[in-house]
This record gives sequence, structure tokens and C-alpha cells, in this order.
Amino acid sequence: MSGRDFGSTLDTGEPAFLEGDPGDSAYVVESGRIEIVKGIGDARVRVAVLGAGEIFGEMALLDNRPRTASAIALEPTRLTVVTREYLQERLKDSDPLLRHLVHVLSARLRTVLAPAGAAGATPRSAADEQDRQSALQRLQLSQAIEQGLDRGEFQLFLQPIVQLTDSQPVGFEALIRWQRPGQGFVSPVEFIPVAEQSELIVDIGHWVIRTACAQLAQLDRDPVAASLPPLFISVNLSARQFSDPRFFEVLESERQRHHLQAKRLKLEVTESLLIENLGAAEAMLRRCKELGFTLALDDFGAGYSSLAYLSRFPVDTLKLDRCFVQGLAGNPAMQKVVRAIAALGQTLHMQVLAEGIETPDDAALLRELGVNHAQGWNFAKAMPLADALAYLRKMTTVRAE
Ligand code: C2E
Ligand code: CA
Ligand code: CA
Repeated sequence: MSGRDFGSTLDTGEPAFLEGDPGDSAYVVESGRIEIVKGIGDARVRVAVLGAGEIFGEMALLDNRPRTASAIALEPTRLTVVTREYLQERLKDSDPLLRHLVHVLSARLRTVLAPAGAAGATPRSAADEQDRQSALQRLQLSQAIEQGLDRGEFQLFLQPIVQLTDSQPVGFEALIRWQRPGQGFVSPVEFIPVAEQSELIVDIGHWVIRTACAQLAQLDRDPVAASLPPLFISVNLSARQFSDPRFFEVLESERQRHHLQAKRLKLEVTESLLIENLGAAEAMLRRCKELGFTLALDDFGAGYSSLAYLSRFPVDTLKLDRCFVQGLAGNPAMQKVVRAIAALGQTLHMQVLAEGIETPDDAALLRELGVNHAQGWNFAKAMPLADALAYLRKMTTVRAE
């Protein structure tokens, strides 16, 4: 046999391996036929004949035990070889869940296939055990999220976004909350990344869009809110939603159902998300603009910022990351940066919004630096719809006084 690493060709009667040989590879039959036999001479028993596409010798990927049968070519046969080393290399950087599944499936295989008495799991290394734990936790969490969606355990909170000149509300950011039975509120920082690893985030995304549109319509029905200039609602998007074929269908049908102007629905995408998905993101954002929805670039300045895509992407709002606000008062250099970004936003006809404003002093400073909009605990925290309505009423009264 030659070329063990990638492929090998056997003549008729030539073995891929013999019973008792040490094994470190599995094989896939590309063409030809392989006979699997146990024993020798008179005791020789044919176990199987394998053709193109079939795999054999896979137990060697799991352990170092000698081959328990021989594999011999019945005709000129071409094989693909998968070495244990290759598999481990491929698995090393893969999803821990995948690694764990391979581990579980291999243990099952071993129990089913290994000779009597030899069955049983090999001891796990600490790293394997860690993989197993984190995979299990993620699996349980994603099952709980799925169930939670079915059972209505999620809520969409609204955090006011105000105009810095007069602190009047102009819109809300929709922030998801999960009230997990017996565990109180679970932060989106904990469950969104898990949901993002599967299609669950797409289901969550649809729920967020449906709920956000319904909430905006409900705000509109309140006489006090109706007396204000039309408010917008912004929703956060995850990478996978860029390739969700139903995204615009859902967004557009919910918009129409609630008779909302498209420009009142704002989509928040982060800079890093755009950079990592340039092609898909660009197409999606253009479609979004064609339909009249608005766009906010979230966490602006938190990662690697490239001013180049400000001209490339049709962004309406720059959301300055909270790191610009933290310690701003004592940082004249940062103040210059913020002033420059505010001016840039003005030139590009973008709103510049500062997030995470916690004190009146920060609000005053940001206003002075030319930032238009603001969001943060200084104004209000994210709250349920009923509280958002009460907040609007209160703000309208303040304005009327
Ligand atoms: P984000 O989009 O950057 O949202 C802003 C976060 O800052 C929110 O955290 C908000 O509650 C918090 N925040 C607001 N004002 C202040 C403040 O003055 N000080 C401080 N320290 N924090 C403030 P939250 O609600 O825990 O959300 C965390 C992240 O989870 C969001 O970051 C967003 O990336 C993600 N997320 C939330 N809801 C959704 C959703 O519906 N879909 C997706 N895909 N992601 C979501
Ligand atoms: Ca956001
Ligand atoms: Ca943000």
C-alpha cells in the first residue's frame, strides 16, 4: 500500500490490513470491492463485502487495539484513508458540541462493536471532560431556549432613546429578556450567543420582529404617544439572520399588518458583524434600504473601525459604543474624537447616538460635543411595554409644563 495519508490503491488479493495489525486509520472505498474476513485458513469467515462509499476500519479512530478482522481487495480497489491524527486535527478547532457528539457516538460504537469484556468507555482527559460539560450545558440551554419560545417565557423590553437637546423620546431599542422559570431574568448576553450557534436565533429574530411591530402599534394607539412625533423602534440583528431567507418577508408582513411606516423600524447591526459577513451584509442592508427600513451601526468604535464602510453601507445612525462615554469627562483627547465623529455624522447625514449614558453630566457633555441622540440609565432603563407607555405619558407632561 502507498500514500497512506490520503488515498491508496490495492491490487486484487492485497490487504488494506490484516487481523492483529496495529491500526490507526479508517478507510472509505472509492471504487472496487473489499472483503472483510475473520480468522485464517479453514477458520476463515467472510464478515462483509463492501463497495463504493462504504467505510471500514473505523474502530482504529477510537483506540489503539489491533485489527479484529482483515480487509482484502476482491478486485483493484481505490481507498480514501482517514488517519486518527487527521480526525483529531479536524476536531480540534471544531465546535465543542460536535466534539462531544463524536465522543458519545464513538463510545456507543465501542460498546456495541467491541468484543465482550472489552467494552466500556476509556477514561476521559480533563480537556475532554470540559468539552463534555460545556457541550452539555449548551445543549441544555438551547433546549430550554426552544421550550421557552414555545411557552412564551421571553419578553421584549423597551429602552427609550432621547434627543439630547431636550431629553424628549424619539424611539426605543427593543431588548430581549428571558424570564426562565425558577431562575429569574437571564441576560441576553448569556443566551443570545448560544442561540446564535443554531437556527434558534432565526426563530428568536422572527419573534422579536413580530413583537416589536406589535408593541410599536400599541404605543401608537395610546393618545399620549400619538401626540408625539412618530417614534421608531430598533431591533438587534445577529449574523445568521443575514442568511435567513424569510427575514424580509416576516419584517414586511409584520410592518403591513400593523400599518407602520418602514422608516420607523430600525435594524441594529454591529460593526464586527458587518466586517465578518461583508458580502451577505451588504446585500441585506441594501435590500433593507430599498424597502425603506432604517439602519443603525451598533457598538461603533468598539472593534476595528473602518471609516471606509461608512460610505459603503447605507447607515442612518451611528451608535457610539459605551466605551466612548466611560471616563469621557476626564479625557479631553476622547472628547475631541467624539466631537469629530459627531461632525462626521452630520456631514454624512447620519444621526449620532451615544449609548450607556449614566449621569446628567455625561449627557450635558455629549450634547455639547454635538451628539444628537442618547440612550442610557440616566434617562431610563429597558422596561416592559406598559412602563414604556407610562414613561411616555410622564415625558409628555414634563414637556407640557
Ligand atoms: P446592545 O445592543 O449593545 O444593547 C445595549 C445594552 O446596554 C443593553 O444590555 C442595555 O440594557 C445596556 N444598557 C443600556 N443603558 C445602559 C447604561 O446606561 N449603562 C450600562 N452599563 N448598560 C446600559 P442588554 O439588554 O443586557 O443586552 C445585551 C446585548 O444583548 C445587546 O447589546 C445585544 O447585543 C444583545 N441583544 C439584546 N436583545 C437582543 C435581540 O433581541 N436580538 C439579538 N440578536 N441580540 C440582542
Ligand atoms: Ca443594540
Ligand atoms: Ca450597543
